[in-house]
Parts: sequence; C-alpha cells; structure tokens
Amino acid sequence: MHESEEIKVLREENERLKQAISTKAEMVSINVHQIRTLLSAIKWIIKMFLDGDLGKLTPEQEGLLRKAYEGNERMLATASEMLLMNKTENVVERAYAFESINMSDIIENSIFDFSGEAKIKSVEIIFLKPEKGVPPVRADKEKLRVVFQNLLENAVKYSNNNSKIFISEKVEDSSLEVSIKDSGIGIVDGGKEKIFEKFYRGENAQKKEAVGSGIGLFTTKKIVEEHGGKIWFESAENQGTTFFFTTPIWEGK
Ligand code: ADP
Repeated sequence: MHESEEIKVLREENERLKQAISTKAEMVSINVHQIRTLLSAIKWIIKMFLDGDLGKLTPEQEGLLRKAYEGNERMLATASEMLLMNKTENVVERAYAFESINMSDIIENSIFDFSGEAKIKSVEIIFLKPEKGVPPVRADKEKLRVVFQNLLENAVKYSNNNSKIFISEKVEDSSLEVSIKDSGIGIVDGGKEKIFEKFYRGENAQKKEAVGSGIGLFTTKKIVEEHGGKIWFESAENQGTTFFFTTPIWEGK
C-alpha cells in the first residue's frame, strides 16, 4: 500500500476508535447516573427508618439498617467516582480551546456541586472571594473545571467531619493563584514526592476513604501545566493540606 494511503487508513481507523470510546463513555455515564439516582432513593428510605420517622426500631433492626445504609453510601461514592473518572478521561482527551475565563464562576459552581457531600460531613466550604474581583484567566473552561473539582473533591473527601475548607484567589505576577485549604488528614512525609504520580494513594487516605483511583492529581497537574501554570501544596499530617495552583491571566489572545 502507498504510504499516504496507509496513513489515511490509520487515521480513519483512529477516528472510528475515538468515536467508539466516546459512545462507550456516554453509555457508562448514563447508566452510572441512573444507578446513583436509585441509590440516592434507597438512601433516603433507609434514613427515614433510622430517624424513626416510620416508628421505633428494635436495636437489631437498627443495627442491620445501619449496615445497609453504610454499604449504600459506599456504592454512592463509587458511582460518583466513576462519573468523575469517566468525565475526566473524556475532557483530557479533547484538544485545548483557550478562552477568557472567570475563575470565580468555576469556583462557585463547583462549590454548589459538592455541597451535598460537604453537608453529609458537616464540612463548611468558604470562598473568600476578593471584593474587587479578579481578572479573567486564559483557560479551557471544562479542563479548568476538572482541575478545581478534583482539588475540591479531595479537600472534602479528606476533611474531618465538622470542619471548614477555605478557598481564595489572588493575582501573583501575571497569573491568578487559587488556594484550597482543608484541615483534614494531611499528607504524610513519605508520600509527598509521590502525590502527583499516577495511581498513588496515601495509606492514611486509603484508610479514610476506601474509594479512590489515584489519577485525580496526576490529571490535575498535567492540565495545570498545559495551561502554563504551576501546582504545589503545603501539608502536615493530621493538620491539613493547602493546594495552590496558578493559571496565566488572559491577555487578549
Ligand atoms: P484519590 O483521591 O482518588 O486517591 P488523587 O490523585 O486525587 O487520588 O490523590 C492522590 C493522593 O493524594 C490521595 O490518595 C491522598 O493520599 C493525597 N491527597 C490528595 N489530596 C489530599 C488532601 N486534600 N488531603 C490529604 N491527602 C490528599
């Protein structure tokens, strides 16, 4: 076969594969959404029993229902994780489309998305939004959303109950710096160099949250750097973690 013809065939095959992957991802997303909706319905029914809304329970009934409730919670968390992974993979695959983006909007929308999980743990998310506003950044909106959502998801996941998460924004040189501060389990010294590696999960993190993939921070760092920004953290075991990332300010192109 002539070389250019061979390339054409390969390109077509590649397009077909991409299409197949994208259709599969969409199917997974629809089904997992449905599973999550059903699990949520089951959750509220069990909760009504546990709260005594449907009459008093015997200690044995209560014990069993509590086990069912906890199992259901874990399945809900797995379903949410699957949705996020599926979405992250799709978004990362796509080419970058840079435009002028308002970071505060991404922060506020993401806080809303995680308000349910935060409420369950009585974690308060506080956005210290600068009064004068901040300039827009040069970013791909969906990818930047993945960055912020991954960091906020971790902050909520690894926070202790009844605690606070603080989010702030400030201009540093020609970039916007965002920080997300939790007072959760922290990152142990031995894990600090590995935190951005694919599939790495801290031992303390696995103990606190059985569900996790270890790809969130790997993807997050990749996206931040492809925007021309930086990502780093400060952390102390059992005291908390603050993640920082920068995104270049929009300069009109
Ligand atoms: P996952 O959360 O699915 O385990 P990530 O790639 O998002 O994977 O994070 C990798 C690891 O980094 C986590 O398993 C955990 O050990 C650590 N980590 C990330 N964010 C935090 C945080 N806010 N507090 C404590 N540990 C964290």
